[in-house]
Amino acid sequence: MAKNTTNNITTVNMILGDQLDQDSLIFNDVEKSNALFFMAEVLAESKPQEINQKTLGAHSSKQRTVLFLSAMRHFKLYLLSQDYTVEYFDISQKYPSFSKSLDTLLEQSKFKTLRCVLPGDERVRLELKAWCKSNNIEFEVLADQHFITQKGAFKKWIKDKKQPRMEYWYRQLRKECQILLDDKGKPVGGKWNYDGDNRQSFGKEGPKDLPENIKFEHHKDDIYTQVIKDVEEHLPDLYGNLKEFNWPLNRQQALTQLDDFIKNRLQCFGDYQDAMWQDQAFLFHSLLSSSLNLKLLNPIEVIQAAEKAYKDNKVPLNAVEGFIRQILGWREYVRGLYWLQKDDWLDMNFLQAQNKLPNFYWHAKTDMNCMAQSLSQVVDYGYGHHIQRLMVTGLFSLIYGVKPQEIEQWYLAMYVDAIAWVEQPNTFAMSQYADGGFLASKPYIASGNYINRMSNYCKHCKYKYNQASGEKACPFTTFYWDFVNQHQDHLSQNPRLGMQVKNWLNKSTEEQKQISEHATYLRRKISHQD
Ligand code: FAD
Ligand code: SF4
Repeated sequence: MAKNTTNNITTVNMILGDQLDQDSLIFNDVEKSNALFFMAEVLAESKPQEINQKTLGAHSSKQRTVLFLSAMRHFKLYLLSQDYTVEYFDISQKYPSFSKSLDTLLEQSKFKTLRCVLPGDERVRLELKAWCKSNNIEFEVLADQHFITQKGAFKKWIKDKKQPRMEYWYRQLRKECQILLDDKGKPVGGKWNYDGDNRQSFGKEGPKDLPENIKFEHHKDDIYTQVIKDVEEHLPDLYGNLKEFNWPLNRQQALTQLDDFIKNRLQCFGDYQDAMWQDQAFLFHSLLSSSLNLKLLNPIEVIQAAEKAYKDNKVPLNAVEGFIRQILGWREYVRGLYWLQKDDWLDMNFLQAQNKLPNFYWHAKTDMNCMAQSLSQVVDYGYGHHIQRLMVTGLFSLIYGVKPQEIEQWYLAMYVDAIAWVEQPNTFAMSQYADGGFLASKPYIASGNYINRMSNYCKHCKYKYNQASGEKACPFTTFYWDFVNQHQDHLSQNPRLGMQVKNWLNKSTEEQKQISEHATYLRRKISHQD
């Protein structure tokens, strides 16, 4: 602990690993002289722990764990620099869970109230709430000011919507926040949405003038190097590796990342946000999600930086609108949905998918080139861009029939930006259609044809993207038709997918049989792979 003793403390201000927000409400109404801030690195947040015959916690990869712990320790330094008193339990103290760490804190100081900004994971909120209840401690939950929309706004907006769509939520926020509007309050350029310009592939030549990513000098950072040692010693067998770790660890680095994106990559973000390319993990994406989700950056400052680049004539409108839509639109939308359905996510399984997650998701060794490429990025960097998540790793899981809860644990564990409030709606609803179409108007399904159109992966693959059966058949194409067959009753009711069902029904009985048999054979083979 830094300065004061904890004896005379009545309130503990707990800061969780994804709450590293210098403008947080937790700093309001505290007197530095007698306020205690508490941060804890606990084992269960990287590896589930058996406690009182219950399994508690979630998996977190090496990249994700090292990011969280390093950023937390940097934030502790920030708190100390502001003269706050901090009690910090690090991973070497081996607290299995937040509850156990709070037991020790309570022995040290007989505090009466635990204050905390709303955790981004309902599981953690419930754990803290239960601990407070059993110890007769008041649990004070503060609103999370980091987000653009505040408590209750989304619930109010969605109340009378039968089939809510992100687009209208986004337009409302554009108006409320005065983003990309002209003098008359209309969208600049005359349109709200430039998605039509933003679906390009790189063509045969591939990406031109790809900017180099900035390199942080983490190897010179004592906090980071100590975290690596601690993780190797106390959490030795986490998934993934650390060879290429390069994520911002504090606000200064996050601002550098933002600046680099605005100057070097935003320009092409719109055109190529859906495109993929062999051995290129980052392309023109911002790599800002982890900094945003740890709250090192505020979404409004990111949006305003992009808008300014447009006003300064440095980037085209389709790029900046496309980028702002992701943060103002999708990010705020999925957060609203998460809290709206917080009790339901973990049970959702509209399509009744029951298969286990194939093992290659964890180590990336598979002969499907698009999967090997997308998965190895996750193992090496804890990263994949949106289309890789939705239309490669997520798509495969959906059409192969993985139980949504299995793939959800993988997304939560493996990506550096994964926190339940954003990961669960994206995984369960957008990617796996487990909510039956509340978020997405249709399941995001496609054959190998889509992957071939949006990347050069298929050129480096042993399979043929347009074959659905036989030795060389692309597993995506086989499982795609098998999915259409299995779910034809539901899909035929959807105006956007009815044609696919018709295409299936127009195939000869012999072709249908070959595809179905090949799908069964492939499922058996994949389920037995290590
Ligand atoms: P960019 O492509 O540069 O986009 C800019 C920013 O927009 C992102 O940093 C992010 O903050 C925001 N954004 C874009 N799409 C979304 C979206 N669908 N939902 C919320 N915010 C969005 N994003 C996470 O932050 N954490 C997750 O755990 C996560 N899990 C996902 C799981 C699945 C199955 C899918 C399909 C998407 C998931 N996403 C998640 C959304 C999106 O893929 C990532 O935000 C994005 O790829 C992060 O990379 P980037 O920062 O380079 O983003
Ligand atoms: Fe992926 Fe099929 Fe293309 Fe191979 S052929 S890269 S498996 S889509």
